[in-house]
Amino acid sequence: MAKAKKGPRQPTGLKCGQCGAFGYITEYNKTNEQLKQQRDGQGTFPLRKYCKVCRQHTDHQQVKKLK
Ligand SMILES: [Zn+2]
Repeated sequence: MAKAKKGPRQPTGLKCGQCGAFGYITEYNKTNEQLKQQRDGQGTFPLRKYCKVCRQHTDHQQVKKLK
């Protein structure tokens, strides 16, 4: 695997919170995420995204490991 550059923008995956199907690969900014959590008490995740399996918008959870 190629060594990813270490920066605030971290690659992450999103999976459906209802059926657990892996849905999206995205990036998030770790620094902004921490600031957001301190300021608002909650972060970016879960995100409301469309799930192909459920065929509706569901809350998507962050997954640490990318396949
Ligand atoms: Zn789903």
